[in-house]
Amino acid sequence: MHPLLAALDLPDPAPGFRCGDAAGGGGELLDSINPASGARLGRVRQATRADCETVVARTAAAFAAWRLVPAPQRGEVVRQIGLELRRLKEPLARLVTAECGKLLTEGRGEVQEMIDIADFAVGLSRQLHGLSLHSERPNHRMYEQWHPLGTVAIITAFNFPVAVWAWNAMLAAVCGDTMVWKPSPKTPLTAVAVQQIASRVLAQHGHPDVMSLLIGTVADVGEPLLDDRRIPLVSATGSCAMGRVVGERVARRFGRTLLELGGNNAIVVLDDADLPLALRAIAFGAAGTAGQRCTTTRRVYLQRGIAAKLTAMLLKAYRSLKIGDPLAEGTLVGPLIDRAAVAGYEAAIAQAQREGAKLLCGGKVLSGAGFESGCFVAPTLMSAPATLPQLQHEVFAPITWLVEVADLDEAIRCNNDVPQGLSSAIFTLNLRHAERFLSAAGSDCGIANVNIGTSGAEIGGAFGGEKETGGGREAGSDAWKAYMRRQTCTINWGTALPLAQGVQFDVGE
Ligand code: NAD
Repeated sequence: MHPLLAALDLPDPAPGFRCGDAAGGGGELLDSINPASGARLGRVRQATRADCETVVARTAAAFAAWRLVPAPQRGEVVRQIGLELRRLKEPLARLVTAECGKLLTEGRGEVQEMIDIADFAVGLSRQLHGLSLHSERPNHRMYEQWHPLGTVAIITAFNFPVAVWAWNAMLAAVCGDTMVWKPSPKTPLTAVAVQQIASRVLAQHGHPDVMSLLIGTVADVGEPLLDDRRIPLVSATGSCAMGRVVGERVARRFGRTLLELGGNNAIVVLDDADLPLALRAIAFGAAGTAGQRCTTTRRVYLQRGIAAKLTAMLLKAYRSLKIGDPLAEGTLVGPLIDRAAVAGYEAAIAQAQREGAKLLCGGKVLSGAGFESGCFVAPTLMSAPATLPQLQHEVFAPITWLVEVADLDEAIRCNNDVPQGLSSAIFTLNLRHAERFLSAAGSDCGIANVNIGTSGAEIGGAFGGEKETGGGREAGSDAWKAYMRRQTCTINWGTALPLAQGVQFDVGE
């Protein structure tokens, strides 16, 4: 077993898959590759279609008992999972970094996000409240209550290999749902580790099948989950292309979806902005996590008065970005997830140049000592006209388009003129400009910030985006409602049977 997994001191793998270097029944072996070194971290035995059926049946059956456990007691189980995540934060963070290539500080942040959402869910377990309403009929009481929904499928992307699962899983668990997790095939070991941590706690509390894991192909695991009527909700995080398939297929059987899809996020910098603040936000938003966040800053709209100055400041800052081993102290930019992502980076830059964009810095795949995996690229700034077709696409790499605009009106138009609608930000010290950006005629995104960049959301707010980003909301605020079903109840405690809207229907007794 890889030392990073051994450090977690986990029990034997749960049925349906095997981890480490073990061979055995089930599906094909899947390699977990460290994108920084190119080395194989371990191998996972994938689930077959038959494994998928067994695991879904077991998880769906577990719902019958779990839905009847009082919500605060479900919260107590989630609290224990949170404590285990606290205890194992450091080795888990190292595994996240090794497998998906984000910086160690971000690996720690990712595990912290799991802990935070567990804490949030514990509090929530005593607040799954409905409304009490006034009935129009005498001696009647009307109220809404929320019941557990059933078994939830959680499909996750490689770039937040464990936090996105936790956003869904911790809420779904306190809401009384059971769940099946299909992680990205690019990050199977972190999924194995987290599932084992959760499974151990669940087993200790007598509910071993509340959370299940299925690592497998789209054909054997992904699509069967979409078509399975035992699964009332599919929560899927990933590209818009994936979301289009998931949305259509689940809708065909009248299932619900919660879609968290691609972003194409912009920062607007006006002439009256605090430029050093904007510089830091753009650098982190654009180059941080090697451009592999759904909230990465991909477009920057610079008002003419500050465009030249801020561009020069950005070029200087980009020269100081240390690219390399994400586990090493001082590194600011790690690798892309794989060589396919590197090819996408090169293709997007070449296409943009053909369309009329100008390369300002970066644009290179790095080679030589420390870069042997072939997954390291230079963070790239390109100047572009607002109409550049490439601006419409999310390229999951550190490429940022700098576009000059005349004023706030043009900046808002440009911000909204893409198919995606996840995150947006404005840098200005003018209260009227800031409020216009946040108004109904301003940014059309699910997230709109002032003097804060586009990436790095807190779990307390509802997270998600509009348009092709999918419309889902996860994490804080009232996002829990997606994991429950609403029931409106009216109780007649009188002796007559008045009908709503004054309708009369008298029958002889
Ligand atoms: P991806 O779409 O390639 O894969 C995401 C997941 O969907 C994987 O588990 C994959 O196996 C699964 N999948 C793909 N096709 C499927 C199908 N037909 N049926 C069932 N499952 C299917 O995405 P990725 O490359 O892993 O992640 C990057 C993308 O995710 C980016 O577009 C990024 O913006 C997005 N993302 C969005 C959010 C958000 O909250 N909005 C968060 C993280 C990542």
